[in-house]
Amino acid sequence: RGTDAAPEIPFAKPDSLTRVYAIASGKGGVGKSSVTANLAVAMAQSGLKVGVIDADIYGFSIPRMLGVSQQPTKVDDMILPPVAHGVKVISIGMFVPPGRPVVWRGPMLHRALEQFLADVYWGDLDVLLLDLPPGTGDIAISVAQLLPNSELVVITTPQVAAAEVAERAGAIAIQTRQRIVGVVENMSWLEQPDGTRLEVFGSGGGAAVADSLSRATGSAVALLGQIPLDMALREAGDGGTPVVATAPESGAARVLAHVAAGL
Ligand code: ADP
Repeated sequence: RGTDAAPEIPFAKPDSLTRVYAIASGKGGVGKSSVTANLAVAMAQSGLKVGVIDADIYGFSIPRMLGVSQQPTKVDDMILPPVAHGVKVISIGMFVPPGRPVVWRGPMLHRALEQFLADVYWGDLDVLLLDLPPGTGDIAISVAQLLPNSELVVITTPQVAAAEVAERAGAIAIQTRQRIVGVVENMSWLEQPDGTRLEVFGSGGGAAVADSLSRATGSAVALLGQIPLDMALREAGDGGTPVVATAPESGAARVLAHVAAGL
């Protein structure tokens, strides 16, 4: 192919059988990467062939959460992604020098994403998950352009302020005509020893985002699940083995497995 020609992206073909989900949030720290990592492993556990692209330039945390320390290898012109917990993983963090900030602008990000999609040997995937940077940046538009069939999953906390910014992340998808699959509320409550729920971050954010995006799109956007605050989830993520693998009976893991089964 000529150097100026757009590389061919198998997932972008109209007859591609791979479902592509972009995981988005309005702001950082709401658990977007934790959700992405766990959905990926839950899907792999159920027998699907799963790939993850970590496109979160500001906080690439997928390799740590999935316990990936290997670098991708290169064979001929293809990049072979490392595999962890049955999931093929490529992260922007694998291509930047450690300890350095990523100061890429939109066009560079677009090009990196294009390469991840075209030059990585993914094989036949059932599902490709993309962990997007928080907010409403250029990369969300690149995803919609490069992967017109991709669908959006919006992550928010129950907090009103978080929900408002999450709605904006969803509004980008409406402009780019991406389908919004649903909303996942994370950090919904902390279960107390007596079984009562302490709503640390308030309540209602997930339902508010789902309602607002339903009205904006004119079709039902569901609240797919509410994930409780759960120490097992945090510890498992820090340890590189997601909670759906280490503690599948925990409250958080059960919700995540349920959401994964519905996608
Ligand atoms: P984001 O990708 O939105 O920036 P992360 O997935 O990196 O967010 O999560 C931020 C931090 O919060 C991480 O340390 C993660 O382990 C923790 N975390 C996320 N969700 C939960 C939860 N439901 N319970 C406990 N800790 C959580």
